Amino acid sequence: MNLANRLKVIKPSPTLALNAKAKALAAQGVDVVSLAAGEPDFDTPDFIKQAAIEALRQGFTKYTPTAGIPELREAVCAKLERDNRLTFAPDQVVVSVGAKQAIYNAFQALLNEGDEVIILAPYWVSYTEMVTLAGGKPVVVETREENGFAPDPDAIRRALTPRTKALVLNSPSNPSGAVFSRAALEGIAEAVRGHDCLLLSDDIYEKLLYEGQFLNIGNVAPDLVPRLLVINGMSKAFSMTGWRMGYAAGPKWLIAGMQMIQDQSTSNAPSFSQKAAVAALNGPRDFFVPMVEEYRGRRDMVVDALNKLEGVHCRRPEGAFYVLPNVRGLFGRTYKGTPLTGSMQLSDILLNDFRVAAMPGAPFGVEGYIRMSFATSREQLRKGLDRFKELVTSLR
Ligand code: PMP
Ligand code: GLU
Repeated sequence: MNLANRLKVIKPSPTLALNAKAKALAAQGVDVVSLAAGEPDFDTPDFIKQAAIEALRQGFTKYTPTAGIPELREAVCAKLERDNRLTFAPDQVVVSVGAKQAIYNAFQALLNEGDEVIILAPYWVSYTEMVTLAGGKPVVVETREENGFAPDPDAIRRALTPRTKALVLNSPSNPSGAVFSRAALEGIAEAVRGHDCLLLSDDIYEKLLYEGQFLNIGNVAPDLVPRLLVINGMSKAFSMTGWRMGYAAGPKWLIAGMQMIQDQSTSNAPSFSQKAAVAALNGPRDFFVPMVEEYRGRRDMVVDALNKLEGVHCRRPEGAFYVLPNVRGLFGRTYKGTPLTGSMQLSDILLNDFRVAAMPGAPFGVEGYIRMSFATSREQLRKGLDRFKELVTSLR
């Protein structure tokens, strides 16, 4: 017996692997600082928990319609209208086990063998693997730090082929924290206007915004809304990673296809999590303000500390909860007599010798950088930064 060939073409999730490694070390009593997690350290707001408890008490513990309970699909439409000025009907919405499943189902429903999907680097590690798992071909278009990680519309034009079936957008971005400006989105819209491909906009970090304004490409290019698939979820904004609540809104034919994949794989997302999501989407928003302020304070603290280190340069991200320091200036120096040559090696040394878990840039398509999450306490951040400084100053 052996595993299916499809497992030979994808890689394990490096984010989940490093998270697990850091958690296992902590469980063994090792004093490890984890800056690996793409997970809020805030607790889920109590009113959301209460809604789930109430649902459980009332026996709301059975299967629901695969695409989600009607009141949640309506709450999603109301949210998209209110927050994003995007109009979708409930039959254009499917609720999934996290945004991750929604994206996975979208590629499963959309791609034929060899179909191409344009992904802008740096990218979240799972996009390329999900495309590959669906038989598609990820086509990576690089963006540059000097341009705020906004794509060059001409680079997108050059990447488009008759096989291009989708373009993935993720602003605020994991891992760069970059937020697309109106001009950047207009450039992207102009580049794809003549080419019939889906625009998959992963807006999961929408609420974690420190500068500027959140815009979906549908806001700057309403003519493209008919081929827009909005992905969002409860994990980041509402600190609900464990509840596994995500959703997609888009063209009816695609949503119906995604539902069919879900019908034949997982069925509905958890019933009581759906009730909690209704409460979250329809409930008070005042808790966002202190939460975003806290993230902003941590961002500034981390960026300022990193920029004091010789050989390290860190752009101040406009959103999400990651910094992506450029560490190329450290390459070529030696650590314990061995030359430092890449982000994987740096991340290994950091974890093994300095007990700090930080993601190497390479699996995000951005060698020469490392990703640090600031979704952890200031105390942990300070400790992690001190240890990173120790590493940097020990290089020769
Ligand atoms: N998109 C991006 C860019 C992410 O960073 C994450 C975090 N895991 C997800 C989607 C999926 O989140 P979830 O499945 O928890 O909704
Ligand atoms: N998206 C988060 C991260 O990048 C969570 C882990 C994952 O699902 O990849 O760390």
